[in-house]
Order: sequence, then C-alpha cells, then structure tokens
Amino acid sequence: MILVKHYFSKVRFSIYTCCWGAWMVLLLLGCGQDHPIVETASLSPEEREIIDYLRANDYDLDAVEFLEDFVVYEADAGWDKAALLRTIRGENIDPIPIDPDDPSIVDLEAEERHRGIREENRTDAVTKGRVDDLTYLMRASLGRVCGTDWTAAFRNGAREWNRLAHCRVTLTETTSEIRADIVIGSDLDTGLPTSHRNIPSIARAGFPSDGRAWGWISVNDNADDWDSKLKTAMHEFGHCLGYRHTGTSDGQFIHGTPSTESGSIMNQGTNTSPSFQTGDRRSARVYYPEEYTDPNSDSVRRESSGKVRLTYRNSNFITRPYYWIRVYKYTSWGVYLGYRDFKSRTGSSDGFHTLFWGGHTPGRTYKFAVRGYNFRRDINSGRSSKFSVDL
Ligand SMILES: [Zn+2]
Repeated sequence: MILVKHYFSKVRFSIYTCCWGAWMVLLLLGCGQDHPIVETASLSPEEREIIDYLRANDYDLDAVEFLEDFVVYEADAGWDKAALLRTIRGENIDPIPIDPDDPSIVDLEAEERHRGIREENRTDAVTKGRVDDLTYLMRASLGRVCGTDWTAAFRNGAREWNRLAHCRVTLTETTSEIRADIVIGSDLDTGLPTSHRNIPSIARAGFPSDGRAWGWISVNDNADDWDSKLKTAMHEFGHCLGYRHTGTSDGQFIHGTPSTESGSIMNQGTNTSPSFQTGDRRSARVYYPEEYTDPNSDSVRRESSGKVRLTYRNSNFITRPYYWIRVYKYTSWGVYLGYRDFKSRTGSSDGFHTLFWGGHTPGRTYKFAVRGYNFRRDINSGRSSKFSVDL
C-alpha cells in the first residue's frame, strides 16, 4: 500500500478519482479530508469568480481543486486558470449568435451522453490547422519512472486516434520539445508544470484553450502495474482535445451520442481492451471532421405567418455529422440578407432534420439555403441549392 502515503500527501480539497478499481480503497480512505471547496475561506477573487461560473453551469464543485496556475476537474483533467478566466470574462467567446430552434425540438438529452466543450466556449476547441498536425513528446521520465509499457501505450493511443476514420486528428511523435504540442512525462518529472506533478490519479491532462490542445500529460509514478494503460493514453489525449467524461455534468452534450456506452474511452475507470465506440467516433467527427459533404435542402415551406419550416438531409450523417447547420436567407431575387446557426440534429436513422426560423416579414417571398459546420465552425460543407418560399 505504498500508494496511501502518496495519496494523502496529494489531496487538497476533494478528489474524484479516475480509477474505480483498487483506487476505490484509497478514495474511501481519503473521504475524511473531502471538504467542498466552496466552504473554504481562502479563495482568491479570481478563484471565487471561477467557482461562481462553475456553480452556475452545474459543474460538480466537489470535483474541483485549485492549484497555482491550473484548475483540476475530476482529478485527471482541468483548465489553465488564466485561460478559463478569459473564457468566463468573454474574452475568447465567439460572438456569432446561435438561435434556439422554434418550436422546441424534442429533448434528446437522454440520448446524448458524450461530452465536449461548452457551446459558448467553442473557440477553445483545437483549430482545424492544428488538430491535423499535433505532435507529442515523451520525456525520458515516462519510461524510466513509470515503465516502458507506458511509452508503448501512448504510441498506441496516438495510433488509435490517427486510425479513426473521417476524423482529422493526427498525433505524431516528436523528439523536439520546443515543437511538441503535448509533452508527456512522469509526475515526478520537474520538467512538467507543478499542476501535473505528484498527482493523486493515474494520469492527468487538461482541456484546450485559445484553439490549442492542452499541452501536458503526466502519469503517476506508482501506476506501473495499472492494467488499462492504452485506454488511459487514448482518454488523456481525448481530454487534450476537449472531450469531457461521458455521462457527467461537464461540457456540452454531443447530440446523437448514445445514452449509455460502457466501453466509451471517455468513461472513467478501467478498460483493458479499449476501442472507439459509436459515440466516441461521432464525438470525434462532429468536432474534428476530415471533410464534409453538402446537405440537401429537401423541403422549405411556410410553417405560419413569417415562419419557415426547413427540412434538410445530411446523407453522410454517420461518417460526416454536422454540429451546426447554417441557414442562409435571401430575397426572392437572390440578394443575401443574413443567416442563423442552428444545432444540427441529423443523428436520426435517416439523416433528416427539420428546423423552424420565425420573425420574417409576413407576406414576403424569400429564398433559403443550408450549409453544415463542425463545432468550432472552421470546417464546413458546401451550400445547398436555394429554395423559395412565400411567408
Ligand atoms: Zn479523465
């Protein structure tokens, strides 16, 4: 039980460990030190600002821990503190409005369990130009301290991401630390930031900010006999790309993902023979698609006075699912007037989705066309034909 000493020395406010097997014993041992962070009087004004934001957005505050420059969430992930404050203060918010569908679409949340970045923070997703050319470096400490099985696991984990069809994530090993997007090492390695040293979980990564992947992954020096190394490597790369834990309260539900998926690589816990599941693949493709095909605008008609009912189809909704659908509006003679973005719901069995857009001038004739986008809206399809409708 050498881990016990390690664990108690590392606990601060609360722990939500990634690992439910043998580590549950340690979790129980640690409960006596489990204080909700909101009760602590020692928070700085910035930390209170962060807590207010996380509370307002239904994060599990018991899973939050403040380090000097890092905010830990659920033990093995979290945010750069300064980047999270920029997001909270709206300094990196995408100002383009997203319109709610009207009338309300069927609530699909029960069928949406995978989690990504919150919609208002979508500029935090890794940019198109970076995600297809990510490099990772394994410091010597990883193999020397944690064991060479871990270096093999991260190589294989990168390969699994690279082999994911219709997804542009590409992870290439580099020996240049200056060039590396993600640096991986032992949690005893002083070359890693203090936020990633002496960790209580098996491993720790972080979430992207400002369009860049999170840059550090540390592995617990006592995790040499952990039996789910490959799953953990795939999982931590997933956090670096923005994915949250499946089925938790963090981040945005990813529409069209299954209600339960025990084998998801973004679940917490062990998985000794991991592979990307249906929801993992969809999550990867709506954020980081390789390419898109154009939607068909199948019917555009008047729903009521001044409101259009528009049905489109993404015939490749499994391999190339859209996150957003952008609806363009034109005059009857084709002069562009503007657009609105709606969440694409082509996760049904046929790739069709119907949406409604009201507030147009009654009695006028307009034309509409649609185009699909990924989560960050830096990858898009071509545009459908224009369809005319009298409103
Ligand atoms: Zn995790």
